[in-house]
Amino acid sequence: MNLESILSKAESTPKALSIAELSLLLSLGSDEERRLLHEAGRRLKSRYCGRGIAARALIEMGNICAKDCLYCGIRKSNCTVSRYQLDVEDVEALARQSIEAGYASLVLQSGELESPSHTDFIEECIRRIVDLDSRIRKPGADSIGITLSLGEQTEEALMRWRKAGAARYLLRIESSNPELYASIHPSGHSYERRVECLRALRHCDYQVGTGVMTGLPGQTAADLARDIVFFSDIDADMIGMGPFIPHRDTPLGAPFFDDANDQGLSANRLRLGVDMIAATRLYLHNVNIAATTALQTLAPDGREQGILAGANVIMPNVTDTRFRRNYQLYEGKPDLDENADETRNALQQSISSIGECIIYGKRGDSPHFHSQSRK
Ligand code: SAH
Repeated sequence: MNLESILSKAESTPKALSIAELSLLLSLGSDEERRLLHEAGRRLKSRYCGRGIAARALIEMGNICAKDCLYCGIRKSNCTVSRYQLDVEDVEALARQSIEAGYASLVLQSGELESPSHTDFIEECIRRIVDLDSRIRKPGADSIGITLSLGEQTEEALMRWRKAGAARYLLRIESSNPELYASIHPSGHSYERRVECLRALRHCDYQVGTGVMTGLPGQTAADLARDIVFFSDIDADMIGMGPFIPHRDTPLGAPFFDDANDQGLSANRLRLGVDMIAATRLYLHNVNIAATTALQTLAPDGREQGILAGANVIMPNVTDTRFRRNYQLYEGKPDLDENADETRNALQQSISSIGECIIYGKRGDSPHFHSQSRK
């Protein structure tokens, strides 16, 4: 198989590649081949998403979690974490700061909780943000796009939050290979339920985001190729992916920990994370793809590398620095001591250094969500 012909087929037609061709894109040997892959991804990003990078302000609402995912630093069995939960007023204050700073899109993320009081709390947060936005947004700015990232929930809870004004939901499948999924979760966590939740999100008319971790123990290039086809089968509008980064206080991370600071290993993890962005763009064409913080953990310019390979979304953290330290899903999370303004300024500079700009005042909906190609 010839790389240039695979790339040109992928660029002209979405979903044109086989599992073998996608696997090849995820296993390129030379820097020159990878440059061609990334350039093709970036061209498609420009074709479907235009110039500029959509920004979402990320609010980490709380780290209390009912789940025990074997890779995650805030899993319920990790008793070294001090737990916190923002209240409605805290969330409203961060939303106000973000809207005033020009963001027209917010992500509310937390550990996973399912209870009537939690459903009420989230509903109240959404209502308050929608109301606040209608009073304070700048003339000409889009109304606020609220994205939720709160784990698996009942269709009833999802519907209530949708009706309250949330428009998008991120729920990574983590791995679309049920056996690999089982190997990174404890026995009570069901792959089928996660897939059902993704379907429920579609029923509730959310813009649906999913994604995986790359570089998981035991994961192959063919697994990742099938993940990309899974995104297509589920008709995802948005994709958030990032490298698995070991956390010392987790069962999956601990055995790796001696290697975690190894430069070569980090470089390989980063490489695969960036190549996965390009391959996903080449297959799906018109979805939103985030350059995630996990990339930045592996290299200071990791997110910029993701953008140069086809990502079009960035999610700067606006959580108060008092809490950031306690929301470490993985080791080495950057910007722990930086406030929201510093984060915004640093990001603006680094994005313009690669010839892009951050778009403020726009929701940046997924082109796929509004397209004819949607199922
Ligand atoms: N609880 C919510 C959202 C928070 S977790 C949920 O389950 O959807 C957000 C994402 O962080 C997860 O989907 C996972 O892909 C990622 N993550 C967790 N631990 C990680 C690690 N050690 N390395 C890289 N990414 C990790």
